[in-house]
Amino acid sequence: MTLSEIALRVGNTPLIDLTPPGSRAEIWAKVESHNLSGSVKDRAALGMIQKGLADGSLAPGRRIIEATSGNTGIGLAVIGRLAGYPVTIVAPPQASVERLDILRSAGAEVIFSDQLAGSNGALEKALSIYKADPEAWFWPNQYYNQANCDAHSKTADEIFAQTGGRVTHFVAATGTGGTAIGATRGLKRLKPSVAAYSVEPAEDFHGIEGTKHMATEAVPEIKLDGRKMKGIFETGKAALDGTLFISTDDAYKGVDLLAERGVFAGISSGANYIAALRMVDRSPGGVIVTVLPDGADRYLYEKIWSRRFYGPALTRALFREMGAYFEKCYPEEGCGLLLGVQTGRPDKPVIKKFAQVTNRNADSRNDRYDIDPNDYRRVEAEARNAGLKILGIAHSHPDHPPRPSQTDLDAAWEDFSYFIFSISGGGMVSGYSWRLENGAFREELIDIVGEHG
Ligand code: PMP
Repeated sequence: MTLSEIALRVGNTPLIDLTPPGSRAEIWAKVESHNLSGSVKDRAALGMIQKGLADGSLAPGRRIIEATSGNTGIGLAVIGRLAGYPVTIVAPPQASVERLDILRSAGAEVIFSDQLAGSNGALEKALSIYKADPEAWFWPNQYYNQANCDAHSKTADEIFAQTGGRVTHFVAATGTGGTAIGATRGLKRLKPSVAAYSVEPAEDFHGIEGTKHMATEAVPEIKLDGRKMKGIFETGKAALDGTLFISTDDAYKGVDLLAERGVFAGISSGANYIAALRMVDRSPGGVIVTVLPDGADRYLYEKIWSRRFYGPALTRALFREMGAYFEKCYPEEGCGLLLGVQTGRPDKPVIKKFAQVTNRNADSRNDRYDIDPNDYRRVEAEARNAGLKILGIAHSHPDHPPRPSQTDLDAAWEDFSYFIFSISGGGMVSGYSWRLENGAFREELIDIVGEHG
């Protein structure tokens, strides 16, 4: 497909009215999941590829390489493939499993960076791969590439046109800063009185994927071809009138509010919506515009809808810790005990810890697990000392769906949560929880809470 054909499918997203009843200001949002690959980052991916082709840094025979834990990678993978350029993505291993699956199904190669080094670690790894053979690669380098910002001058044009020029305020979550800074520049060019704010996570450890807490996560200055490069956020932040800080909990509340309005959007969209609602008091009579960077379907793994229902709660870090352990056990079944506390709601225990135990099954380790009663008693005593109880058992199903088997049912106890993780080809696919009810298993919804929850 030619780039101009691809460009027809990027941008021109709907602007929807999200003004709450009785509000003193209007709130509107661009639904960016309508882009080709499903997120706002298609705009940047297309812009950077167009610029690469124009300046010769992208040419036939080169691979595209980028550090990203998600949406940019998906945009590059989809657009790169359509335009005829294969794509390699460098991501930290804790990136959302669904996004990695989407990346791979879009044909991208995924390379993992150091788990502890976060997104900046992925950036360093991409830089070192690129530097080792610059002729082989095209590195869009989204954190430093002005084309990422420039792509959003079109976002600004669309907002201006879709509001009939009435826009007064703009708020947008910042990851690279491309959306916030690019659209702000564009809007101020069209209408200098527009006030624009970036939206950042309030906490340094946060659950608003795709965004950065700039005070602790800002991208470092890098050296390329002897030149020092500052990130586009650092370079462009003077265009902004300020920053709104939104907690992960509030971002999730925003996701719920959007869902009540029939809009199924991702976590940063929730943060943006809360930020827009906060702007209302500061700007009575205003026309506040924000973006919904992606859809809720990018976060099914986090089960963002389950929080209000029954089922055990735990942090994403703990959920991923279990998944990582069962990946290590593959192709055998792994097992462990879920330790936690009961809350005021018996159907909503909180899992605080995962205790790995040995699968002592000797002859069918790929599809059976068996916990030694001595292990169980040891963990139970340790739990008691820590003020915790055993609330359930987690085990894995290698190359098998995460549904309980007859053996699981026969061995199940009342009042226990049974987590089953499906591990396919060594990679975690999904984790579900089950509880015995009237002699049958009922699915519980696992409530993934913010890291501080
Ligand atoms: N929300 C989500 C879900 C994202 O993936 C991103 C991109 N990292 C952003 C917000 C922020 O966009 P930008 O990189 O343009 O600042």
